[in-house]
Amino acid sequence: MSELSELAAAVRAHVEWLVTSGAAGVPRDRSGASPRAAAPNVVETAPNVVETAPNVVETAPDVAQTAPDVAQTPVIVQPSPAVVVAVPGAAAGAPAPLLDVSERRRRLELLAERVKPCTRCALHAGRTQTVFARGTGTSGLCFVGEGPGADEDAQGFPFVGKAGQLLDRMIEAMGFGRDDVYVCNIVKCRPPNNRKPEPEEMAACMPYLKEQLELLQPEVMVALGATAVQGLFGTTEGITRLRGRWKLYGGRTPVMPTFHPAFLLRNPAAKREVWDDLQAVLRQMGRQAPKR
Ligand code: SF4
Repeated sequence: MSELSELAAAVRAHVEWLVTSGAAGVPRDRSGASPRAAAPNVVETAPNVVETAPNVVETAPDVAQTAPDVAQTPVIVQPSPAVVVAVPGAAAGAPAPLLDVSERRRRLELLAERVKPCTRCALHAGRTQTVFARGTGTSGLCFVGEGPGADEDAQGFPFVGKAGQLLDRMIEAMGFGRDDVYVCNIVKCRPPNNRKPEPEEMAACMPYLKEQLELLQPEVMVALGATAVQGLFGTTEGITRLRGRWKLYGGRTPVMPTFHPAFLLRNPAAKREVWDDLQAVLRQMGRQAPKR
């Protein structure tokens, strides 16, 4: 009996010690693992998540490194293959990539700035200023003329005189806004007395136009008058024989030769033929002239 009393006293003392030491009761997990023991596993998981983050961050510089390449690489709109194939001989030229609009505009502005102080040929001596281009070219259509006259030389833009006003009416009749088309010339400085540019003057200035067209990548061009056709293709044929017959510039861009608007001012009867040519241009672009 005394042994039993001693055992009961020992059990009571152990229980009191457990209460005093903060133990709420007898552990349920006989293995000795408590709920707190699981916490380190959670903590161990966290570093894994954190370790994953640097991989994501490391990927970002790759993207950033790619960006300059994208910016340097001409992007990205291809001319419609159907348009090119429809022109005789066009299939021989692979469609070229096209700069995006803002980059194209920026590079064209830089080129225009480079042209301003040019003295490559004798025409620089008589100019008021160089005449580079007008319009955005967002329609895909580009008109190429001969060179600036007195009005253009004074204002700094091509086709702003009487011939230019007629060109504007032609553009409007085709269903385009004046600024939607791009208008430029074979030479950027006014020849004296509005004479035709000499072959050496055209040859001196053509690299600018080539670069201009390379940046612009028009879908279709219209060559206005014999000088424009001669500058683009080196032909000596007259415009009467050339007009209305597609040619291919740079192996890929369809060009429709037609009469210069200044010729139409002197020969209004030729407007019918020019309108036929412009309607062919619209068909080439998959468009129709708006009904009037
Ligand atoms: S016509 Fe052309 S090549 Fe000649 S000076 Fe003017 S910009 Fe230069």
